[in-house]
Amino acid sequence: MPDEPDGANLDGHHAMHLETGVALINALTGEHVHGRRKASLAGHDLVRATAEALGENGQVDLLAAERLRDLASRLREVLEALSLGEHDDAAGLLNRMLDDSRARPYLHRHGDRSWHLYFHSPEAGLVQQWTAGLAVSVAAAFGDHLPHRVGLCAAPRCDQVYIDASQAQIKRFCGLACQNRVKAAAYRARGRHSAP
Ligand SMILES: [Zn+2]
Repeated sequence: MPDEPDGANLDGHHAMHLETGVALINALTGEHVHGRRKASLAGHDLVRATAEALGENGQVDLLAAERLRDLASRLREVLEALSLGEHDDAAGLLNRMLDDSRARPYLHRHGDRSWHLYFHSPEAGLVQQWTAGLAVSVAAAFGDHLPHRVGLCAAPRCDQVYIDASQAQIKRFCGLACQNRVKAAAYRARGRHSAP
């Protein structure tokens, strides 16, 4: 089950799920990354990238990976709408995801481990587990910090999604690779203008 580790508080649990959701979006969707065109994933590559993003080893088959890529596309739509300030659209999309995932609170324990709150029944398959878990975590963060912290990389030819955890909330790029790329381009442009 994706809801690990035992005993995590609710906020920590949702924050962890959000990170996983962003990893899934960036691994499986988008056209460009760090200035390069992304290869479209199929077959084994798709299965491997999906399992890696979710931390599920050996549990993802091709059908599940394809359905999880659809989930990633829907999550991207929600986060992109938020990054554009379109909160009503994002809430509508997310409510539809919650409906479709049949998410519901459910207490469950594995063996003699402590009881834990899940958002799917123990019989749910991998795809439904992740759909319900991620939709609930994004929804939980929605009323809190998420709408002001989600962004789309501002560098050209990169559409990675990020969540800005910094206090000042000044993040504009997905990471150092894109930040340095944009800085270098600006430096070269200045050099051209000041040339004799
Ligand atoms: Zn980027």
